[in-house]
Amino acid sequence: MLIEGKLLALDVEAETRKKVERLAEQGVLPGLATVLVGENPASQMYIRLKHSACERVGIHSENVVLAENTTEEQLIGKILELNARPDIHGILLQLPLPKGLSPKKAMMTIKPEKDVDGFHPENMGSLLLGAERLVPCTPLGIIYALERLGKKLEGAEVVIVGHSNVVGKPLAAMMLNRNATVQVCHVFTKDLAKHTRDAEILVVAAGVPGLIKGDMVKPGAFVFDVGINRVGNKTVGDVDFEAVKDVAAAITPVPGGVGPLTVSMLLRQTVQAAESQQRKLEKRD
Ligand code: NAD
Repeated sequence: MLIEGKLLALDVEAETRKKVERLAEQGVLPGLATVLVGENPASQMYIRLKHSACERVGIHSENVVLAENTTEEQLIGKILELNARPDIHGILLQLPLPKGLSPKKAMMTIKPEKDVDGFHPENMGSLLLGAERLVPCTPLGIIYALERLGKKLEGAEVVIVGHSNVVGKPLAAMMLNRNATVQVCHVFTKDLAKHTRDAEILVVAAGVPGLIKGDMVKPGAFVFDVGINRVGNKTVGDVDFEAVKDVAAAITPVPGGVGPLTVSMLLRQTVQAAESQQRKLEKRD
């Protein structure tokens, strides 16, 4: 079975649109600001995808573009401005930043309640403690898809390839929060196949085309290919799709799998942020 992230994302968009309408009845228009520093073409493309998704569901979105030679002070200043705006409920800093700018300080400046990418240490800390608030969008999309497919996570053998702060680490925490058994592999893992063959649910986020071959997958596994790699003029994942599709019970395509799910979770979390900021305002009045 193909896990059609694109179709699942349409359902998330429909749910989100309804929530946007409900907020409109209270006079609230959810707002997302993206911050792009420099002119990385891949980043520009991701930003465009995010903004057109916002438009489809009625979220107000604006893109702040800063020059390649922006200083840390200027970037922090811009984020502080967005933190102070009541019409902006979510702030997303597009990574990577140009050389010389550290994402750490900028990320920490974003108000945790507006951190719709879930990267702020306060949100990451809550996630690790089992209280998920705003969490990274790619892992959230994977969990959403598994729930929609009716795959039980409690007691499931989950193997994650890649231990980045964006995908692998937060996904491991989210799986543990749902009582899965989790193995996390990375570039220093000695025998990758030994681990991946255990997986009932295999998530691959390494950025290495063709890393996972057919004989590395347990028959009947659910496989999520997070990788986005340009090979020639094609976009491919980290999984050898043709070989693995006959072994796995379910697999995401690249493109059209995890990518659209990730964007849909950004919409969902922007609305969630708007709802909770609105509740806070109501409590204060
Ligand atoms: P990263 O580049 O920060 O880290 C890569 C991870 O893979 C590390 O943990 C590294 O140890 C591991 N790794 C690298 N080579 C390996 C190998 N040969 N064997 C085992 N492990 C190996 O990772 P990231 O930012 O999580 O991105 C990973 C991939 O996912 C990239 O292709 C990226 O473009 C893609 N991505 C896609 C989405 C999406 O929405 N679809 C979101 C985020 C990232």
